[in-house]
Amino acid sequence: MAKVNALNDCASPMPANSAATSPLQPRDSSVLALPALERAALFFDVDGTLLDIRPEPRDVVCDGDLRALLEQLLDRCHGALALVSGRGLDDIDRIFSPLKFTAVGLHGAEIRDAAGAERRADPRIMDHARRPLRDFVAAHEGLMLEDKGATLAVHYRNRPDLGVDALRFLLRFSPGDGLAVQEGKFVVELKHGLYDKGTAIAELMRAPPFAGRTPVFFGDDLTDEAGFNSVNHLGGVSVRIGDADVRTQARHLLADAAALRALLRGALREARP
Ligand SMILES: [Mg+2]
Repeated sequence: MAKVNALNDCASPMPANSAATSPLQPRDSSVLALPALERAALFFDVDGTLLDIRPEPRDVVCDGDLRALLEQLLDRCHGALALVSGRGLDDIDRIFSPLKFTAVGLHGAEIRDAAGAERRADPRIMDHARRPLRDFVAAHEGLMLEDKGATLAVHYRNRPDLGVDALRFLLRFSPGDGLAVQEGKFVVELKHGLYDKGTAIAELMRAPPFAGRTPVFFGDDLTDEAGFNSVNHLGGVSVRIGDADVRTQARHLLADAAALRALLRGALREARP
């Protein structure tokens, strides 16, 4: 039976403005069985979950092994599989080309449902912030601005000492303008304030082929906390990829992307052909 480890260590605090303020206690068992694939709705974050994080976001590409794995899962779940990312839909499609998955982009602001209908986010929501942010990044060597259209991301992997300054700068723009700040691993982003990964997962769960199934969400970062919270409320399974010493809403833990792939291969072996 496919299993993940129960999360059993929530020792270190999350950043003060994180959505996950009340970590769940571990279940009494050290392992949890995933729902059978024919009854599951699978939701995957991309970077740090399905694929290892790369210094340059545009360098991330899906390998053949993962592509084959996702195609088999899609078949066994009868299409109830979606990617849930902070990237835009076009960038998700680039990574997984030629496959086009049901997907959530820009932390929930964009959705392509199972029928292929898309809701795109209007990049003009960032018009007043784009120039000031470009100037801020240009004035701080080592920072990188990633313009995703309706989301602006400042990466500080090469200058960790500037993370707090970047966060403070972005906080100038929200929430009065309908925006929100999203923290992540060596990145802070200005995003749409109405949507998050949790609202997007709940939206997809209301329609076929997801409706009526047990949602399972795999994520690794602060933006995924809203998704964990959402599937917890929907009676689903929340699985964080990464270290155990982080407070999180996820109820289960896997070490890394390789462990996730091993878990998924196990679930496929158990699934009926
Ligand atoms: Mg991630």
